[in-house]
Amino acid sequence: MELARSLVGDSPAALTVEGLSWGPSHRPPIVRELSFAVAPGEMLALVGPNGAGKSSLLRCLYRYHRPTAGTVRLDGVDLWSLPPRAAARRIATVLQEPASDFGLSVAEIIELGLTPHQHDGSPHGYTSVEAALELFGLTSLATRDFASLSGGEKQRVMLGRALVQKPDLLILDEPTNHLDIRHQLEVLALLAALPTTIIVSLHDLALASAHADRVLVIADGRQAALGPPLEILTPTAIRQTFAVETAIDSHPATGRPRFSFHLDPHS
Ligand code: ADP
Ligand code: MG
Repeated sequence: MELARSLVGDSPAALTVEGLSWGPSHRPPIVRELSFAVAPGEMLALVGPNGAGKSSLLRCLYRYHRPTAGTVRLDGVDLWSLPPRAAARRIATVLQEPASDFGLSVAEIIELGLTPHQHDGSPHGYTSVEAALELFGLTSLATRDFASLSGGEKQRVMLGRALVQKPDLLILDEPTNHLDIRHQLEVLALLAALPTTIIVSLHDLALASAHADRVLVIADGRQAALGPPLEILTPTAIRQTFAVETAIDSHPATGRPRFSFHLDPHS
């Protein structure tokens, strides 16, 4: 974990979202009037069905979509009043479609994470790339062509690239969808231990429940619920949002909530 901590920024960001809406022009909004705040160092999990607007919301939070209404503030400053470079220096992302073939090696892709800091004289260059390779079990793949990796290996490279950026806010869109079970558990435990402010969309409610400080449920672009996982991820709430029945018990080994799902045979 010390290795992981050596990679991240030392001033975790506060994020404030107020009345945020976004949608393509001349179409109904996809993100609808969201208001919430994320405290420095907090890990917020974003959950909701396919098409609920999770990726669209995240794009508003990393200054890709300009809100059609409302604001997103980073430590009190409107994201769109920051120079793009200032935002890039503080916010790192791990997105669903990793960069396609640039003919770069694994180590070179991770090095790209250093770019926002290139002119500020930070001493961390090479060693942090090596640390990221080690952290994500990529050392033996360092010289491999990125394009030749498996989906899960690519995902770990993108995590490494995000961490060498030393972010104060880390935004991840389904970062575990290609990972095997062991890597899913490791990545979530690692994220939870970082001092960075983190917003992560997840499909696995058990992972969200085990590691996030709070959960934000999005349904049809709206904020359906926000709060600590155990208060929010109840069978009734899960039925309303995901249209499945849930049995929740305590995991015999970890004591954490265990979720089992089934379809209501009468619906
Ligand atoms: P999620 O990540 O929760 O699955 P998305 O944010 O990707 O949901 O998408 C929400 C809805 O908005 C989907 O129906 C998607 O097709 C639509 N959508 C997303 N981005 C655009 C866009 N740029 N233009 C038109 N529709 C979009
Ligand atoms: Mg999505």
